[in-house]
Formats: sequence, structure tokens, C-alpha cells
Amino acid sequence: MAVHAKPTSAANGQAAVNPNENTSRNATNNRRNGPMMPSEEVPTHDAVIVGGGLSGLITAYLLRNKNILLLEKESRFGGRVESEQIYELTNNVGTQFFADEGGSVSRLMDELEIERVRHKPRHVPYSFYIRGTYYPTLRSFMSFGVHVDRLKLIAMALPRLRTFMKPADHPKRQELVGQNIVGLYDKLRPETKSFVTTYMRGACLAKPEHTSAGIGSALMLGVFFLGENSWVTGGFQQVTDRMASTLGDKARYSAEVTRVEQVDGLVRVTFVEGGQERVATAPSAAVTTPASVVPRIVPDLPDARRDAFERVKYGPLTMVSLVFAREVPWDRFFAMGSDDTVFQMVIDQTFDTPADDNPNNPIVCNFIISQYPDETTEIERFAAMSDDEIVEQTLADFTRVVPNADGADEHLIDTKVTRYPIGEIELSPEYYTELLPHIAKPFGNIHFAGDYTHPLSFVDGAVLSAFATARELGSDLIGPDDDRLMKLSARLFRR
Ligand SMILES: Cc1cc2nc3c(=O)[nH]c(=O)nc-3n(C[C@H](O)[C@H](O)[C@H](O)COP(=O)(O)OP(=O)(O)OC[C@H]3O[C@@H](n4cnc5c(N)ncnc54)[C@H](O)[C@@H]3O)c2cc1C
Repeated sequence: MAVHAKPTSAANGQAAVNPNENTSRNATNNRRNGPMMPSEEVPTHDAVIVGGGLSGLITAYLLRNKNILLLEKESRFGGRVESEQIYELTNNVGTQFFADEGGSVSRLMDELEIERVRHKPRHVPYSFYIRGTYYPTLRSFMSFGVHVDRLKLIAMALPRLRTFMKPADHPKRQELVGQNIVGLYDKLRPETKSFVTTYMRGACLAKPEHTSAGIGSALMLGVFFLGENSWVTGGFQQVTDRMASTLGDKARYSAEVTRVEQVDGLVRVTFVEGGQERVATAPSAAVTTPASVVPRIVPDLPDARRDAFERVKYGPLTMVSLVFAREVPWDRFFAMGSDDTVFQMVIDQTFDTPADDNPNNPIVCNFIISQYPDETTEIERFAAMSDDEIVEQTLADFTRVVPNADGADEHLIDTKVTRYPIGEIELSPEYYTELLPHIAKPFGNIHFAGDYTHPLSFVDGAVLSAFATARELGSDLIGPDDDRLMKLSARLFRR
């Protein structure tokens, strides 16, 4: 059923700039001169980008007018951005939504002509099952007490957000990011606490005890505004597909990088493609893989930096996609949160989108199961469960908490379980105080980009770190003054 949208095969075509040619040239040099001396290393490219997820593709896209090479290990581009076609509609299996508030992210989307949907929260049902009660809309949950809590939250989180936006070395910011957000929950009534915890886990994998008060305040301010995020019409993967197809043979998938090292002022990237080891060299490289991969492929990292990359913690995310025949017995919602089910959030992928206008389209509900990285026993137990068992538990919980959903299995026409062991990172106080300072800066001519290299993380962090890295690698496609968020990031989230 699932058809993973891939860029045209030309993107991986043999007509690509062939780093192997240079390998043979080096081999000739070797034969002629004996073992190659570092000084004989000739750059094959202006820059090499390792990893073809969102951050790698953006870095490459912003350097597209240069002689660059992007190498992606998997047989598709996109990394954690992943969409598929189901019947006539698109299911976002991986990344769901992003904040569309001007700045780099929005500008990039505009440039790529990506259509977005932005729901009006008051018009789309955003339902909740909290402490044993089902609330069909956010409004029905917003009692007077919850309203008061919401104002309290805003009053507490807003000044912290302002402090978070101060330069990284500002003492007040340093103090703030070293704290967690437990204190922000203290004065809330139990149902608000449960509601906020559920959202923070389902959407951001943020456990209060392990979430820094800086980013935590920013995330908390978003709790009541899920619908105001933007959703890409036709699937988030359009973003990565369009960049990959623009890059053409400068971006190659099924090419796993095994080593990135500095040799006589150049960066030498060794990779395996089609069973053969190849080499590309450039004055600089960007490594955009998940953090845990970095120490394995950059062998010369000093111990303190190696340790920092190894200590970045990711919580796994599992996406259970249930496809239902159109006429379901429950009142449809756009999104639903729940504090007492295996999943924390459900998103009806087509609600309020053009695909919904076709009555022949089924309904795809994505159930998001987020697991905190420190709950290792639970992670292991869940990993051992079969896909069928996960679907069964998801369906049982869904029918238990949603009114009129007890016949849901009769409407079920397809299921799919997608597991992301590397889901989202734990944005803990230690991450900001101990890890990020070691991670974000370049190691010689090797630069690092990706969601974990930027204090905002998520799509924002992946995009903003890619902009910053492309600039460091000499992009002339980024204007000095064309972007609010990027300026903000450069000024306030200085790396
Ligand atoms: C299920 C799910 C839902 C999410 N939903 C949202 C959301 O709604 N909003 C939001 O803001 N964020 C969301 N996120 C987070 C978001 O997807 C990520 O922050 C973002 O996509 C990270 O992009 P990246 O390029 O930094 O990393 P990745 O997407 O992980 O890209 C890294 C790439 O490097 C490649 N690679 C690894 N090793 C090698 C190697 N040795 N050689 C070559 N290539 C290699 C990988 O295959 C991968 O393609 C979600 C994540 C998941 C898993």
C-alpha cells in the first residue's frame, strides 16, 4: 500500500559527478608515487554533505550552485521527514507540522512553492481524553479554571522565553537553561497539568523533569495552539523531494559514509556505494547525521566532544497509521490528545484538507506513541511487541476512550506501524549546559548541522542549523538580511 515518494531516479543516476574518478586519479598517483602523501590530496568537490535528511538537503540546496556532493545512507532522501501516498491522499508518517511564522522555514517553503494548510483552531475539533473524561473540542475542555491556568502558564512561560532568547553566554539564560520545567506545573490544576503533560509528550517528547526551562517555556506556550501550526498539503516529504530533485546528481542515496577525516587541510569523506568504497575530498564538509552516528564516522574527535555527541538522548517515536473506510461512527476530530492510552496524540491526516472533499477517500488516523528516553525498560518491552500487537492495543484504547468508536475495527481497511528509534531528542538542562557547547561548533573544517545542533531543535533547529552551516560553507544564496528567524537565531542562539 505504501508508496514512498522518491525523487526521480536521475537524482541517483550514474551521470553524477563521480567521486570515483578522483579515487582512480588518486590511485594513479599512488601507483606513480607510492603511498599517497596528504599534501597530494586533490579536492574533488567544493563541499561534501553527509546525510540527506532535512538539514543535509537544505545545506546542499543552499550550496547548489557549487560543486557539491550529498551522500545519504538510506535508499531514499528525507530521513525523519517521510510521507506516503494512500489511495488519493497523503499520509505524513514522519514529520507532521511546523511553525510557519516567517523566517527561514517559511521562506524556504515559499521558494520551493510548498502549499501549506493552517487550520483555524476555533474551527477544527481538537479533542482530549483527560483524567477519564472525553472533551470533543478544546473549547469544551476550557473551563474557567483551565482558562486561569492558561493565563498563569503564559505569565510564567513568556518571561522565561525572553530570557531563553538572550545570547547563549548571558548569565540569566545560562541559569534558566540549567533548570527543568517542573516548577511551571506546580500551580496548575490536575486536569491542566495532565493536558499539558500529554501535549508535551505527544508533540515534543518533553518530560517535565528532563526538559530545560528555556525550550520548555517555548514549547508550553504552543500547547493551546496546535492547529495554528502549518501542515504541508500533499505531504511534508514534498519539501525534501523538491530539494533533492533540484540537486539532481549532486545528491546520492544508498551511499553510506564510513569515515570523515581531515587530511592536510582538506576533508576526506569515505563512503560505500554499490558495494564499493569511494572517496570524496573537499575544503570542508557538513555532517548532518543523527548525533550518535558522528563519533563512529569522525574518528579523530577529541574525547570531550565525542562524549557530548554520544550523550545526546533520543526518545523513540512510533507512528501507528490506521486507515478507516470513510463513514466512521465517531465524530471526527482534527487532532486528539489522551493521557490514558498507549498513544498520546492522534492526527486525522486529511481533516479540513482538499483530500477530504473526495468522499471516496478513506480516513487515515496517525496515532503517535512517544517514549521518554530514560524509560528504558518500557522502550525494550515495546520494541519486542509485534506490529499486530501494537495495532491491537492502539485500537482497543481508541475504542475505550472515544465515544461511538466501539465498532472502529469494522471500519478498518489497512494498518501500518512505522518505528523511529531515533525520534526526537531530550532537550534536558544538561543538553544545553554540557552538550550543546561541544556539539555545535565545527571541528576544523568539519561542520555539524541537524536538529540536535540547534537550541530550537525539531524542524526549526534542522532548518536553522542548515542555514548557518551553509553560510559557514560559503553559500552565496543566503541574503545577509532576508530572514527574521535566522537573524534571531544568529543573534540570540549564537553557536
Ligand atoms: C515520527 C516523527 C514525527 C515528527 N514530527 C515532527 C513535527 O511534527 N514537527 C517538528 O518540528 N519535528 C518533528 N519531528 C522531528 C523532525 O522530524 C526532525 O527534527 C528533523 O526531521 C530532523 O532532521 P535532520 O536532518 O536533522 O535529521 P534526520 O532526518 O535524522 O536526517 C539525518 C540523515 O542522515 C542519514 N545518515 C545517517 N548515517 C549516515 C551515514 N553514515 N552516511 C550517510 N547518511 C547517513 C540518515 O539516513 C538520515 O537521512 C518528528 C520526528 C519523528 C520521528
